[in-house]
Amino acid sequence: MFSPTRVARLAASRIQQAQPLRLAVIGSGPSGFYAASRMLDSFDPSYGTGSDGVEVHMYERLPTPFGLVRYGVAPDHPEVKNVEHKFDKVARDPRFRFFGNVRVTGGPAPPLAHDPCAAIALDQLAPHYTQVLFAYGASEARHLDVPGSDGALDNVYAALDFVEWYNGHPDAHAPGAPAAALASVRGEDMRRIAVVGAGNVALDVARILLKQCATSPASLSLAKTDMPEPVVACLSTWQLEDVNLYVRRGPAHVAFTNKELREMLTLTNVAFRPVDRPLLQAAQATVRESTDAGTKRAKTRLLAQLEKGSKTPWDATPTTPRWGLSFFRAPAALLGSQTLERVQWNKTHIDAAGRAQPTDDTETTQEDHLISSVGYRSTPLAGHGAVSVPFDAKRSVISNTRNRITDETGRVCPGLFVSGWLATGPVGVIVSTMVDAYGVADEIRRECAEGAATLCASVGHAEAVPGIPAALEHAHRKVVSFDDWLQIDRAEQERGKPLGKPREKFLSVDAMLRVVE
Ligand code: FAD
Ligand code: NAP
Repeated sequence: MFSPTRVARLAASRIQQAQPLRLAVIGSGPSGFYAASRMLDSFDPSYGTGSDGVEVHMYERLPTPFGLVRYGVAPDHPEVKNVEHKFDKVARDPRFRFFGNVRVTGGPAPPLAHDPCAAIALDQLAPHYTQVLFAYGASEARHLDVPGSDGALDNVYAALDFVEWYNGHPDAHAPGAPAAALASVRGEDMRRIAVVGAGNVALDVARILLKQCATSPASLSLAKTDMPEPVVACLSTWQLEDVNLYVRRGPAHVAFTNKELREMLTLTNVAFRPVDRPLLQAAQATVRESTDAGTKRAKTRLLAQLEKGSKTPWDATPTTPRWGLSFFRAPAALLGSQTLERVQWNKTHIDAAGRAQPTDDTETTQEDHLISSVGYRSTPLAGHGAVSVPFDAKRSVISNTRNRITDETGRVCPGLFVSGWLATGPVGVIVSTMVDAYGVADEIRRECAEGAATLCASVGHAEAVPGIPAALEHAHRKVVSFDDWLQIDRAEQERGKPLGKPREKFLSVDAMLRVVE
């Protein structure tokens, strides 16, 4: 993988272009912003927006930029959010414009209930841009797909909903949203929580729960982060005793990483249930056989951490909140009438291809709540129009070859690019997303330099129509500029001051818009 310094050096290599470049970026997460940054950096700013220049317009469905940096990254990891400073700088470039509170659709689509944002179809965008970069991420949860997981049972959530709730995402705080029910859960009904999955999101969820619960002596440690006040108040009433992560494979196959595991094992007064010795020994043998030196080193360290266990001993006191990893367990059915009561698990074994397969053996546990953390997924843009974007439903990504969007026959679609989780699937951290975005920016630049067909040409315009699509000028909803966002940002910071927090987020789009209307 490239190091950030090496990538920065590569940014200096410039390609000559043959026509003006007008790029629309859909989505303002790391992939959109890093691509915009690389694109603007690769042109001499003195060219401005003229015939040999570049313009980047970014469309974002929320009034707030930065995607998962604002609504995914955990509140107790503020240092990760520092990338926002870099994105702020990009947004200050006169060749860049931000259009917040604008949802891009694939074509005329039925309006979403209570959707507070403006909508613009790809057909309306296309004449204005030489290229479009799709960077709208993965904003749905992957389904568990077992009986009882269809939404009929209370107390069952997707990690995506829980994460958005503790990060103050307006969708999660809208009336009727799945996570909104969390606000009325009684503390004593929150003792035992099952988390399905063993990725870094599952660890984020477990850590936030264990840090903030009423039974943790460190409770209220999140009160000085940007976690919204109503969420802090709610979490701190929960009387958590046990958070169990159910893992369908073994200790050698967990997806979480060393740093995140270390943080869990050193939580103040939180005990970790020791992993069975034979399980660890089998995992160590598996890792020893690994031919990839990097994986071998990382996994060896991870298993050593699991073997060492938590700073707080497991038998510290009976009231210490605990967490554990239940290996070789895959959910078979979520049971209960209206509310979750029990979970039936298939015990699993690993087949020759390394996949978890159910055995004939099952186990049933009692759980108060279940959070399913089995990954995110991207979806196609709603509606269909003349400009269509082929979607690979099997992989839940926009079909692409090295970030260039391809049709059903594998042919490249001129002017259409994809980056970030929408291109790769929902894996990777901000740095890997940056590397991917830099690569796509170079591809876009190359297409222009070669004078290849562009998006506007494919809808009958020799050159991109300057200005912004008329649909935006006549939108019945407020279109949020970057300056508007800075006003919302300042208002949030002001609200945070008396609470000693970096900000107190607005929990609805309407509340954000009231700041700028
Ligand atoms: P996103 O960040 O999801 O951005 C997509 C943007 O598109 C969003 O703003 C969305 O609102 C917008 N959008 C969606 N649909 C539309 C539409 N129709 N029209 C207009 N806009 C639209 N990585 C780390 O390095 N460190 C961490 O600590 C870390 N924590 C994480 C925690 C969680 C819970 C998750 C899920 C991920 C975490 N990651 C972390 C990974 C990191 O967040 C991703 O690698 C990165 O955000 C992917 O960027 P993206 O731009 O592809 O997508
Ligand atoms: P992930 O890393 O892909 O983990 C998903 C987990 O769910 C895996 O343990 C997987 O098991 C399991 N799983 C999938 N389908 C399942 C099913 N049907 N039944 C049971 N278990 C199932 O995804 P993630 O945790 O959502 O994280 C997404 C990305 O964001 C990752 O790259 C992650 O590193 C990154 N992230 C980083 C940070 C950080 O840097 N601090 C924080 C959060 C997220 P299998 O392995 O068996 O498939």
